[in-house]
Amino acid sequence: MGKLCACARSRGNVFMSDIDLKDFSVNDASGVFYDNVDSVIVVDPSIDQYKTIVRKGLFEKLVEDTGSYHDLIMKLWFHFGETNEEVVEDYQVFAESTGDFKGKYSRRLKIVLDGEDKMHLVQLTVYPFEGDSKYLFILDELDGKESMEESLTTNKINTIQNSYLFSMYIDLAQDTTSSINITEMSEDTVNVQLKYSEWRMMIVNMFLPEDQDQFLRRTDPEYLKKNFTPGRTSSYDCMMRNMEGKFIWVKLIFSRAQTYNEDDYRFVFMVQDIHDNSMEILSALKKYEEMAITDPLTGVFNHGEIETQFHNALAVKHKNGDPVSVMMLDLDHFKKINDNYGHSVGDTTLKTFASILKDFAISEKALVGRWGGEEFVIVCQSKGADNANVMARRLKQRVEDHEFPTIGHITCSIGVTEIKEEDTFDDAFNRIDKAMYESKHNGRNMITVL
Ligand code: GH3
Ligand code: MG
Ligand code: MG
Repeated sequence: MGKLCACARSRGNVFMSDIDLKDFSVNDASGVFYDNVDSVIVVDPSIDQYKTIVRKGLFEKLVEDTGSYHDLIMKLWFHFGETNEEVVEDYQVFAESTGDFKGKYSRRLKIVLDGEDKMHLVQLTVYPFEGDSKYLFILDELDGKESMEESLTTNKINTIQNSYLFSMYIDLAQDTTSSINITEMSEDTVNVQLKYSEWRMMIVNMFLPEDQDQFLRRTDPEYLKKNFTPGRTSSYDCMMRNMEGKFIWVKLIFSRAQTYNEDDYRFVFMVQDIHDNSMEILSALKKYEEMAITDPLTGVFNHGEIETQFHNALAVKHKNGDPVSVMMLDLDHFKKINDNYGHSVGDTTLKTFASILKDFAISEKALVGRWGGEEFVIVCQSKGADNANVMARRLKQRVEDHEFPTIGHITCSIGVTEIKEEDTFDDAFNRIDKAMYESKHNGRNMITVL
């Protein structure tokens, strides 16, 4: 398709390729045009209409005989890229002036039809009618494998070299924006003649609701004027909707032009896609955060974290008076397990014990941590001494009933206390410690509430 030399239209019984060059007429040329171009459309943006003169191949599905000019532009503009996802409404702010063609214009589009995975590469040529508001759109599918590969390669290079979703120039003194380049949509520059003040309010909806205040603060003209000396660049990260409507991590970069004129407030504003990198950093952070609060042997909170939770429980009690209890658990005659079976069986026993506590704590919305050795602390939120006592009894029973690997049965001693309004950390801690030792002293496998 689209190749003049491949033409085989007949003029009577004469093939056009057989016509001598010197006999070739304008009519023959338009025949070539008619046979070889995939679609010819006349458009009139001023009355929002188009009329299709020629329609073949993929354009049979894409365009109608007549229709709204705006819809046509949306179809051509919003099917770029290797996705057939609908472009979210917000992005249309950037395509506002796509009909504002000046002179002849030609570019390549990538079109994906609804329900198809395949990408079509299309050459669009726009001819303005002299002195009129109409244009001729000539559309030709470039099916050649080479041009497709070339386009894919260009795409890849663009992705690697240019992770900027869009960029624009801002002139705060004039309240204007210009030359927005939307890499995500097109390699071309799109001129959106919007006031900066209006543009800001239009794109604020593309950010996560909780990031919108920050966006408005940081894009406020007075803020930018005050905080950016000439030549200064600054950036921050937030989440913004991409063309498919999904929130991704982006870096917003503002840079004031280098100038010696104090009243010159020209800025460059760029949005960089940092999503993949940010997700990696976030998951690494999450992992390190977990490691920092987890006891490596048993997987429950470590000493530092359960102590912090203990302090938090005191703070909650002081603040709103809700009941909070804490308990301390210590395995009975644990040393004998190490002595009789070895350290590794001792470790396995600690892990099993911790997992019983953890399962139990989850169901009771309690927090469990290893205080040290074979001692564990549980913070029981919203529980007074009586409830905590009931919970301790069930827990003690569950440990007693459990068949531990290698060693069989084992018991634990428990100390319980409810935090009082006037308690310091030491007061509360000393009470559970004392309660737990009383349980030991009175024969083990017992609960003491103080
Ligand atoms: P009681 O009933 O009075 O609590 O007696 P116990 O033997 O449990 O108490 P004791 O404090 O005498 O001994 C605790 C033992 O726990 C001593 C120590 O070797 C062992 N221990 C502490 N941490 C670990 C650990 O991480 N792994 C293993 N295998 N043993 C540990
Ligand atoms: Mg012990
Ligand atoms: Mg102990």
